[in-house]
Amino acid sequence: MTFSALGLSDEIVRAITERGYTEPTPIQAQAIPVVLSGGDLLAGAQTGTGKTAGFTLPILQRLTASAKPATGKAPIRALVLIPTRELAAQVEESVRDYGKYLKLTSMTMIGGVNINPQIQRLKSRVDILVATPGRLLDHLQQKTLDLSHIEILVLDEADRMLDMGFIRDIKKILAILPRQRQNLLFSATFSDEIKSLADGLLNKPVMIEVARRNATAELITQKIYPVDRERKRELLIHLIKEYNWHQVLVFTRTKHGANKLAEQLNKDDIPALAIHGNKSQAARTRALAEFKSGKLQVLVATDIAARGIDIIELPHVVNFEMPHVSEDYVHRIGRTGRAGSEGEASSLVCIDEHKLLWDIERLTKREIPVVQIPGFEPDPRIKAEPILNGQNRGQGGDRKQGQGRNRTRAAPRAGGDQRRTSATTGKPVARKPVIHRSGGYNR
Ligand code: AMP
Repeated sequence: MTFSALGLSDEIVRAITERGYTEPTPIQAQAIPVVLSGGDLLAGAQTGTGKTAGFTLPILQRLTASAKPATGKAPIRALVLIPTRELAAQVEESVRDYGKYLKLTSMTMIGGVNINPQIQRLKSRVDILVATPGRLLDHLQQKTLDLSHIEILVLDEADRMLDMGFIRDIKKILAILPRQRQNLLFSATFSDEIKSLADGLLNKPVMIEVARRNATAELITQKIYPVDRERKRELLIHLIKEYNWHQVLVFTRTKHGANKLAEQLNKDDIPALAIHGNKSQAARTRALAEFKSGKLQVLVATDIAARGIDIIELPHVVNFEMPHVSEDYVHRIGRTGRAGSEGEASSLVCIDEHKLLWDIERLTKREIPVVQIPGFEPDPRIKAEPILNGQNRGQGGDRKQGQGRNRTRAAPRAGGDQRRTSATTGKPVARKPVIHRSGGYNR
């Protein structure tokens, strides 16, 4: 299957060939013909599947094919709604790149930055608008934006949009769009809320679903490093230095945790910055740019801030703390091993997080190998504590407290007693990390 065979024009094929894409991904092969035909689409696809090009390429093609005569100012014809600022900026960058041999123009409209340059930009031609809902509503209120000629609407990451509380904003936006239009909805999951949004929005949609990332994640090497909760930072520093990791994306659960960890890494001469919702857009963009260029060794992020970060060949993702929602694990590790490149996802797991880990393994239907780094073996005397927000729970919710995966039992020491000493010298024996392919860690 080639991009040309899907009906895309030479100009578009040229741009994507230059970007290094040789053949369409499964979501692209399925979505492109549907979008080109003008029908509505309901697509189950996560970030990392190539979904952005799946909707962008056919939109570019359709807008070019039905280009309006250039009299007066051309109206905005396609609207892409995206939950986060970073992702919106990235999607618009892709639109520009894929459309570089076309006459179409695009614009990013996101919050956290001065609105005036956006108002200025709207005075010239914009064919495709990529926006986050809040800032778009600001423009509508200020009457600086006209959406009365929208022909195509994309709701990207609809599940995230709802998780982030954007449903009312979306409904307000939908209410002012022209009724006659093509609608494309992308979501990684299909809750009842998403289904009801889709029911109200889509007209006889074609439904497609591609393999979840966890089903196609062979390129990602996943590892669990057992460690005590108080020694996670020490272990992280050890791993980064010992294995010479560069471009490490580290996930923490809280903004405060992200700040603290970044500070501590810097003290240990590991250049690190934190990104999260409390940072200004300028700071987030700068951190991301430095990280992408390789200047910044470690980026510490919360789930929301990291959503949609697209760094090709990001080699390392670290779960400094395990996510409470198992799907977030899949999103997190989806930052690595993307589109054909290999990556490593490492989870530092303490005794409080066994239940979360168990839920993740149940969701992804695979046991994650355990690697015990000598000198960091969990102390069997340390008992599990309820973790932040009173939770030591995943999302399964089908077991009572205390019935988790041996949650109150200390992790067995990999390979027996790790603090063995040499029979001849009496000194601790240096040992290589022990890898357990199955079993071994509270399984
Ligand atoms: P997305 O799911 O849209 O975030 O895309 C995930 C990654 O795959 C991005 O880095 C894209 O640049 C890349 N990508 C998208 N389509 C292709 C393709 N057909 N071949 C190779 N890489 C692709």
